[in-house]
Amino acid sequence: MDPHSLRIMSAFTKGLLGAAAVLALLAIIGLTYGLAQTSPLASPLPDGAKRLTPLYFGLYVTPEKNPISPPERFIGYHSGLDFEILPGEEEKEVPVLAACDGKVIYNQWAGGYGGLVIQQCFLKGDPVTVLYGHLDAASVLFKEGDALKTGQVIGNLGNARSEETDGVRKHLHFSVHMGDTVALLGYVQTDEELGAFIDPATLLSE
Ligand SMILES: [Zn+2]
Repeated sequence: MDPHSLRIMSAFTKGLLGAAAVLALLAIIGLTYGLAQTSPLASPLPDGAKRLTPLYFGLYVTPEKNPISPPERFIGYHSGLDFEILPGEEEKEVPVLAACDGKVIYNQWAGGYGGLVIQQCFLKGDPVTVLYGHLDAASVLFKEGDALKTGQVIGNLGNARSEETDGVRKHLHFSVHMGDTVALLGYVQTDEELGAFIDPATLLSE
């Protein structure tokens, strides 16, 4: 090979190596970003992924057609995702964890829920209200206006069939509503109403 074509070869090789280096760098950035990217919401209970959720978002229930045994009294489209307790948790304190960073905007006993906490959060900049239902109200030490950090303990689940849960089983009703309105309904009667809620399952596994 004459010196001229050698020079061309070497420039060509350098170009290839450069392109390969850029590609490798992009792959590393992509991988790091992919690994670092977290779900929009954290699990509101420890071991969230291990828990059964037979009463899922959007399911239409009646006391006759209900995945919960014995069935509960509600009728309508379920506006949240219910997390069941794990075996052995019946008598144990089960902490409820903040799923996002944001202020407490509601902390009261409410019919159908017992202890109820609602938090204002932002998902990709959009306001949402995140509802945690069936808590032992006495275990909630925050006031409306207090800021919560993701993973912080809000309080404990209320005891089954007590005033703490307003008479229902021990579980967490977890819902996400668009905007900044306090939306108390755990069951809604129309598709339009359901459309103002987001399926929490899609936010936890993204
Ligand atoms: Zn529920």
